[in-house]
Amino acid sequence: MEEKYFEISTENLKKFIDGIITDNYEVIAPTDKDGDTFYGKINKFEETNLDILLPKMSYKEYLLPKTETLFEYSISGVDTEVKDGLQNIAGANEKRVIFGGRPCDAGAGPIMEKVFNWDYKDEFFNERFKNLTIISIACEKPDNYCFCTEMQLSPESSYGSDILLKKSGDKYFAIVTGEKGLNLVKAYSNLFTETAKDKVPADKDWKKIFEVEKTKSFLDKNFEHNYFQERFLSCIGCGVCTYTCPTCHCFDIQDEGNLKEGRRIRNWDSCQFGIFTLHTSGHNPRVTQGDRYRQRLMHKFKIYSEKFDKYLCVGCGRCSRNCPEDIDIKEVAKNLAEMA
Ligand code: SF4
Ligand code: SF4
Repeated sequence: MEEKYFEISTENLKKFIDGIITDNYEVIAPTDKDGDTFYGKINKFEETNLDILLPKMSYKEYLLPKTETLFEYSISGVDTEVKDGLQNIAGANEKRVIFGGRPCDAGAGPIMEKVFNWDYKDEFFNERFKNLTIISIACEKPDNYCFCTEMQLSPESSYGSDILLKKSGDKYFAIVTGEKGLNLVKAYSNLFTETAKDKVPADKDWKKIFEVEKTKSFLDKNFEHNYFQERFLSCIGCGVCTYTCPTCHCFDIQDEGNLKEGRRIRNWDSCQFGIFTLHTSGHNPRVTQGDRYRQRLMHKFKIYSEKFDKYLCVGCGRCSRNCPEDIDIKEVAKNLAEMA
């Protein structure tokens, strides 16, 4: 579908969000909790916090939950019952909207989709992803940790959003990219006014501070470079960078149970943990934090791009903002580009 363009006043945007909640949509939006801001279910527009740049965590957990049951079993006498975990989500969340995220978080969805549909089609991921409608808001003031412009996106990119809102005075321009977004706009057509593309303010000229192709070029040739061991000596291997990242997707599968009942679960994991690659023999191919962070960089800026022609990073800067050791991936990627 070709993009379509609408205007909506700030007042009508509130009515729109409250309207879809009344119509039984589950709306997930940035909302304050325990002194911070996270994505969470809201019951009315007033509960959103649209003033912050980005919530602490991404909304990855709505595509890939921190933990989920793949199947469960129970045994009674000679009878065994197996329940597919997919039944728990099939048809659920059909009316789920993520509202108020930024273009970086929206850009992460299609990047994850490629991984979960490459050789094995992950029905759990796909069931959630196909049901999600993403209404993002363009950024006006990225901070110093942001680098989406270097990562093939921009603070005003509509990639991955069903509707991108661009604020302009007391109204928003809505860029509608596909059928999902258009269906919602049509259902509340009294709140939107269609407009022409040339009425939408042009994107600003966002500047890049490094070329990610150069970062990749360094990684292509320097697997054993001292930079990795020296720069990441301070990394404590907490995994915060991977857990807060919208595109990190490593998971572990565990069986829990006994002779009567049990389940197989999938949990988030992290390449920054020492035991992530520990072999049963005791050998570990990634011994140091330098080895582990290098792996993160390789996956983000080299390996994924060779397979899918995009990078496994949207430049949201969350891993840097939340790192207890102040390791800034934007600075690291820039350093590598400069050394290429
Ligand atoms: S958040 Fe920082 S300290 Fe923790 S694993 Fe990541 S880079 Fe290392
Ligand atoms: S690696 Fe860091 S900057 Fe890139 S998407 Fe993940 S959290 Fe955001």
